[in-house]
This record gives sequence, structure tokens and C-alpha cells, in this order.
Amino acid sequence: MKIVFATHNTNKFKEVEALVPKNITLVSLTDIGCFDDIPETADTIEGNAKQKANYVTEKYNLPCFSDDTGLLVDALNGEPGIYAARYAGEQKSAEDNMNKLLYNLGDSNNRTAHFKTAIALNLNGEQHIFTGIVNGKITKSKQGKDGFGYDPIFTPENYNLTFAELPLSTKNQISHRAKATQQLITFLKGYKNA
Ligand code: IMP
Repeated sequence: MKIVFATHNTNKFKEVEALVPKNITLVSLTDIGCFDDIPETADTIEGNAKQKANYVTEKYNLPCFSDDTGLLVDALNGEPGIYAARYAGEQKSAEDNMNKLLYNLGDSNNRTAHFKTAIALNLNGEQHIFTGIVNGKITKSKQGKDGFGYDPIFTPENYNLTFAELPLSTKNQISHRAKATQQLITFLKGYKNA
């Protein structure tokens, strides 16, 4: 069975492709000729994941899954939330986003935050949602060079290093996306109609 992973991010695609069971062929948006900027206009993380998966299933009549991630900072009432990518503007600059977040948090002692990923899977007329959360804290300055997005300012719970300082192999075991993806893979492995 073929399933579309509705992402334009080739790194994400390869990461997940390596994990899916062999009876499933993962195809990319490029493989199905979809170069659209798929709308993400829902007001929740789950809603955006569903919207993207539904777009592909409705337009191409194919099974599909899609993911969406937000960063929720407690002292900022859940900001940047679903606007994580464009927190400081449409240029979607990670540096600008981190600067804005650090500025808004100031010297606050309440620095708790979490990343949340939702994956929506459309398969044989049913929709399944998988979620993953990693709790942590926003640092007072950027630390580390690896990763992407807010990695240099996010320290996961039980660690003293940011995601940008930890080895990628560690991040890939504990991250929001890893947890949601593991649930998806477990579901697909147990799926009998593949
Ligand atoms: P997306 O829904 O996966 O595209 O994620 C939306 C935004 O959340 C990204 O543009 C990043 O700014 C941020 N983000 C998502 N995952 C991570 C992560 O693992 N580390 C740091 N930032 C992330």
C-alpha cells in the first residue's frame, strides 16, 4: 500500500521513510506531483495536521499523513503556539523567532515550555491522530549550533543541554516529533489491511 507523507521537507521524509514497515511504500508530495503550498489555517496543531492530510486525500484520493508542530511557552500564555514558524514574521527566520521569544520572556523565572507534534493519518476512510510532547525550558541565551528552529534555546526536561547541543540521536529519541512518529509507526506495523 502507498501512503503519502504530506511534507516538502526532504529530511523529515527520509527520517520517517526509514522507519515505516516494508509493506508500506511512502511517497512524497513530489512523487505525486503536488507542489502546492498546502494551507495551514486551522487554530490548533491537530487542526493543521488534519487540514494538510485532508487536502491531499481529497485532491489525490490517496491515503496520507501529515504532521504539524507548535512551541508553547507557559509564561507567554502558549505563544508562539501554532505560529512557531512565523512568530517574528513571514520571513520565517529561526534567528528572528528566537530573538523575539527571548525578548518577550525577558528575565522571567517561569521558563517552562513544551513542543507538541500532531500527526493526522487518513487511511481507508478513517482518520487517526497521534501526538507527541516534550517538556522543557527556554534558556536565557542561545546555546549550541545543531538542529533547527528553536533548538538553541530549548532544554528538554532531565537534560542540561539544549536540543542544539545534544546529539541528534538523543533528540530523535525524546523529541515531540519522535514520540508522535513512533506512535504512527506502531500503528502502521499493526495495521492488517496494508
Ligand atoms: P513544523 O510544523 O514541523 O513545520 O514546525 C513549525 C515550526 O516549529 C518550525 O518552523 C520551527 O520553528 C518549530 N519547530 C518544530 N519542530 C522543532 C524542533 O524539533 N526544534 C526546534 N524548533 C522546532
